[in-house]
Amino acid sequence: MVRMNREQELHQRMVEIYTEAGRETGHWGNYYLRAVRSKGGLAAAKNILKQQPAGKIAKGFQALVDADRTDLSVEAVVLAPRFRPLFTQAEIVEAQRRLSGLPPVPQHKVPPERNFSGEIDDDVEVVEGSRRQVMVNAYERNPRARKACLAKHGYRCSVCDMSFAERYGEIGRHFIHVHHKKPLAARRKAYKLQPTVDLVPVCPNCHAMLHTQDPPLRVDVLRALLAKRERSTSTGG
Ligand SMILES: [Zn+2]
Ligand SMILES: [Zn+2]
Repeated sequence: MVRMNREQELHQRMVEIYTEAGRETGHWGNYYLRAVRSKGGLAAAKNILKQQPAGKIAKGFQALVDADRTDLSVEAVVLAPRFRPLFTQAEIVEAQRRLSGLPPVPQHKVPPERNFSGEIDDDVEVVEGSRRQVMVNAYERNPRARKACLAKHGYRCSVCDMSFAERYGEIGRHFIHVHHKKPLAARRKAYKLQPTVDLVPVCPNCHAMLHTQDPPLRVDVLRALLAKRERSTSTGG
């Protein structure tokens, strides 16, 4: 038996799902198969994750959704623990998003002078263009929701682990921001806040960094970014 490396295994799996998905759904992705054969499974998968025709769902993917067999999608293959290491964090996030059925949300940079995380007051006027920001903050400033979140998660920053009590002593006790994890676009009309799930404690620095993008960066993404930087600076990078 020939031993395959991970990339070759991925390629083989990409070819297999063509047949399995075809049998299950009646949709034969011939264009897909051609791309896999000509570019190789890895490049084809990355290319598929890149394509995002404005809010549209690819035909083959829709067929799998209808047949309740998204386990045969490229996205599911990408997320398999065996193949994940071949993909970037952004590609993994995109695969997760598609499988979770969330609409595509183009993330854009928030200019520093418009990043109000932690600064905006409840009685601040809603300024043209900043309505979204105010709405997010309203959730983060709801005292009861905040209390429930902190009772569950404590007062340590979920991104960098810093604790104000440890760092500043008594005056830092019980000081922390809470951040609302669910981007507006991911919420349904009758959205009900689940404070212990949707809110997380974050220090103001990390909070501001989460809000450098709109919708905000994910907590685990910023955490990974920070860990990566810490590793590289500790090795003299
Ligand atoms: Zn932090
Ligand atoms: Zn926030």
